[in-house]
Amino acid sequence: MALDDLYREVIMEHYRSPRNFRELDDATVSLTLTNPLCGDEITLYARIADDRIEDVTFLGRGCSISQASASLMTEAIKGKSLDEAVSIMSDFRGMMRGEPVEDDESLGDLLALSGVTKFPVRVKCAVLPWEALRQVIAPDQTPE
Ligand code: ZN
Repeated sequence: MALDDLYREVIMEHYRSPRNFRELDDATVSLTLTNPLCGDEITLYARIADDRIEDVTFLGRGCSISQASASLMTEAIKGKSLDEAVSIMSDFRGMMRGEPVEDDESLGDLLALSGVTKFPVRVKCAVLPWEALRQVIAPDQTPE
């Protein structure tokens, strides 16, 4: 199976069966963002305590890229310290800007979204949940 096909399969599987797709009753933060270009909407919920993302969930609707990116993001950052989550976020944002991936272990399944960079208009979809995360955990960093 070609890598592109494998990546497409990962995206479609997360779109059809999104992980952590629910409201989080005891969230300490929540944030809704929309991508008017595509009609995507993401509400991110997180319970953050002792500088750690104890739990993270989302609700949303829109295209497969935005929803799969949110699902993959929650899997990647759940249980991580804020520093670790910021590091994963920086790696992901770099990949979306077309920068070479230095640490593909940090990104893991998120590499499935690497092909999105070939379609600049879809990058907005992929970064939407990450922009919500950035506003929550790294408000001093520049937005995309
Ligand atoms: Zn979209």
